[in-house]
Amino acid sequence: MAELNKVILSEKDMPKEWYNIAADLPEPLPPIIRADGVPAGPADFAPVFPMEIIKQEVSTQKWIPIPDEVISAYKVWRPSPLCRAYNLEKRLKTPARIYYKNESVSAAGSHKLNTAIPQAYYNKAEGVKRMATETGAGQWGSAMSFATQFFGLKCTVYMVRVSFDQKPYRRFLMQTYGAEVFASPSNLTHAGQEVLKKDPKSLGSLGIAISEAVEDAATHDDTKYCLGSVLNHVCMHQTIIGLEIKKQMELIGDYPDIIAACVGGGSNFAGAVFPFVADKMKGKDIRFLAVEPAACPTLTKGPYRYDFGDEAKLMPLAKMYTLGHNFMPSGIHAGGLRYHGDSPIVSYLVNKKLVEARSYKQIPCFEAAVLFAKSEGLLPAPESSHAIRAAIDEAIICRETKKEKAIVINLSGHGHFDLSAYESYLSGKMVDVEFDEKDMDRCIKELPDIK
Ligand SMILES: *Cc1c(COP(=O)(O)O)cnc(C)c1O
Repeated sequence: MAELNKVILSEKDMPKEWYNIAADLPEPLPPIIRADGVPAGPADFAPVFPMEIIKQEVSTQKWIPIPDEVISAYKVWRPSPLCRAYNLEKRLKTPARIYYKNESVSAAGSHKLNTAIPQAYYNKAEGVKRMATETGAGQWGSAMSFATQFFGLKCTVYMVRVSFDQKPYRRFLMQTYGAEVFASPSNLTHAGQEVLKKDPKSLGSLGIAISEAVEDAATHDDTKYCLGSVLNHVCMHQTIIGLEIKKQMELIGDYPDIIAACVGGGSNFAGAVFPFVADKMKGKDIRFLAVEPAACPTLTKGPYRYDFGDEAKLMPLAKMYTLGHNFMPSGIHAGGLRYHGDSPIVSYLVNKKLVEARSYKQIPCFEAAVLFAKSEGLLPAPESSHAIRAAIDEAIICRETKKEKAIVINLSGHGHFDLSAYESYLSGKMVDVEFDEKDMDRCIKELPDIK
């Protein structure tokens, strides 16, 4: 095995196709359905998504070529390095080999740019002039604001009011990339006006912001909507991560025993592990850890049911693990992990026990992130800290059982805009709110009765 600190692929070795796991699943996924119970077809998505994206969403073709224009844009920061965390291993006194795939090197700071670029490209190719989208903490909005610049598109971002006010730095980044950013609820849409009529001081929510962006796209011919997680095509675009990890591990002469990634809507997890799930389905011994916050324990506590993708019920229903579309998680710092549902494919794999789900409270995650920062110098995003926590716990088990396993962390993003969260942890002000099953039960009761 080669002793390397990091493996950097050459640009010519960057994967040229995305991997579509739908081709390899033992059975078709439960269909996406409309609120009236009818399976959703292309016509239901056409007002908000371009045709190529809709085709990818339902495709069962195993390899989807990455367009040359997307490859060129990827090359601004890809291939991303796979690093060996020697210093972390030393501090943990573990015989495990810990690697991290560094998606924080992306220009916008997270893996989200991997899908923002192709989504902007396909929209441009179909004559779209402007993208409308929502953002919570600002990661997805930053990625889309930058991606649209490659293809000369305009970008409108509806940013949840509370983040707009409390996290202005990501807003400034989006504006620097040329996007138009509005606090949501805004008075630019009916959805926003309705909320403001009832509550002029509304702090907003991701659900409301989605409703505003979807309405903007549906009411303007030159504008389409885009989503940064959950959907099949988003997970597929992210497989460039796992395909690169595969090549990089081959170059070192190693193969992962465990891959850990955090889960909000499931896209960075999907990206890192789907190419390896194919191996597991053929009998390879490998474990996948889907790590979520204890405050929003979709995969570990929620039922596997049909639910709406958004609070306003504008999106169709998918079978997934869910806490209910009305569920409001407590205000943890990992804003990107506060989603009530999960990718239908990731949910399916958890249900089939091909993927293990676990959850952690935020304080132990920040403890892991600080140890990682001290060891490797890199400041993880609060979201990514969940994957690090899980990997560290596995490395500690390796120490206690004297097992030499290879553990890969998907480092989904950096935490340079989350320093106030670190300040809260370091000053001892951070709290862990106990998850209340009753909140979930109340929301689950409101789920549509579809089997
Ligand atoms: C958005 C985000 C996530 C969560 O989204 P997934 O779709 O589950 O990957 C995780 N990490 C970072 C850094 C993010 O910005």
